[in-house]
Amino acid sequence: MVVVMKPGTKKEEIEALAQSFEAQGLNVGITNGVGCTILGLVGDTTAVDIDKLSILPNVERIMRVSEPYKKANRKFHPQDSVIQVGDVRVGGGHFAVIAGPCSVESEAQMIEVARDVKLAGACMLRGGAFKPRTSPYSFQGMGVPGLELLLEAKRETGLPVVTEIMSPKYCELFEEKVDVVQVGARNMQNFDLLKEVGKMSKPVLLKRGLSNSYEEWIMSAEYIMSEGNENVILCERGVRTFETYTRNTLDISAIPAIHRMSHLPVILDPSHAAGMSWMVEPLALAAVAAGADGLIIEVHNDPPHAKCDGQQSLTPESFQAVMGKVRALVPMAGKVLEA
Ligand code: PEP
Ligand code: MN
Repeated sequence: MVVVMKPGTKKEEIEALAQSFEAQGLNVGITNGVGCTILGLVGDTTAVDIDKLSILPNVERIMRVSEPYKKANRKFHPQDSVIQVGDVRVGGGHFAVIAGPCSVESEAQMIEVARDVKLAGACMLRGGAFKPRTSPYSFQGMGVPGLELLLEAKRETGLPVVTEIMSPKYCELFEEKVDVVQVGARNMQNFDLLKEVGKMSKPVLLKRGLSNSYEEWIMSAEYIMSEGNENVILCERGVRTFETYTRNTLDISAIPAIHRMSHLPVILDPSHAAGMSWMVEPLALAAVAAGADGLIIEVHNDPPHAKCDGQQSLTPESFQAVMGKVRALVPMAGKVLEA
């Protein structure tokens, strides 16, 4: 980190500031230029409060030269992280496809979809028991009984289950019942929730917020990792832009960018990005080509009657067709499709 002092700052004031940094365990180099002085801070500057520093009367400007995230940073962990979920691996050349309905609706629906997606080649089952809906009058999910139906579908098919958590009060229950804890886009910056899932032992699927930058997204992963849970899978699901044709705008650049910034796996959700079932296939294939570590796709046995997101849900038949192309493309991207 570099701190530029205002011209005319007294030597004693510069030295006092340098000493306060040294007291935080940092090495400080002082460079006296024409008219201004620069402090170069070397060491772990994550705890330095830039906002507080910038209001000091003698400070002109502060520049970070390293990223504020450490545990998620590829610089300190050059090899890809591989997240293990039962027998399934995600990342480091392992490509995982997660599929299932937006929401858990009934036992018959879950069992039928679980069997279909397994047959088509998915290696994990998704389904929301707790749904973050825009309207309080919309179906909010089955809640706790929905978790039991996911477990039943898991017993039936052997597929590990991925489901969304919305409140820290359910961490204990999720720890006991689910395989991957999903933190949805709307909760990406729910820091209390992130800290609590960070204390869990289950892998976390962290979706990108509706309008969040890569750095904000990685910082949210850092919240989880800093509590001890380093098993984080990032999920790009489209972001808000001026375009209204699609539900969100898929940011395909997120895949190579995150891979450069972080060692964590990145999967892609073409369903919530497109918002239309017919567009899921091309976006899914683009994700494979761009180097994604997996996909999460909404599949429903009866999309027109789905309680949530039917318009973007694939039928089991169309999911099978997408999987045929994904299966052909994954090896070309240098990865192995997890079974
Ligand atoms: C979901 O996966 O059903 C969901 C609500 O996704 P997102 O948080 O990305 O909107
Ligand atoms: Mn959905």
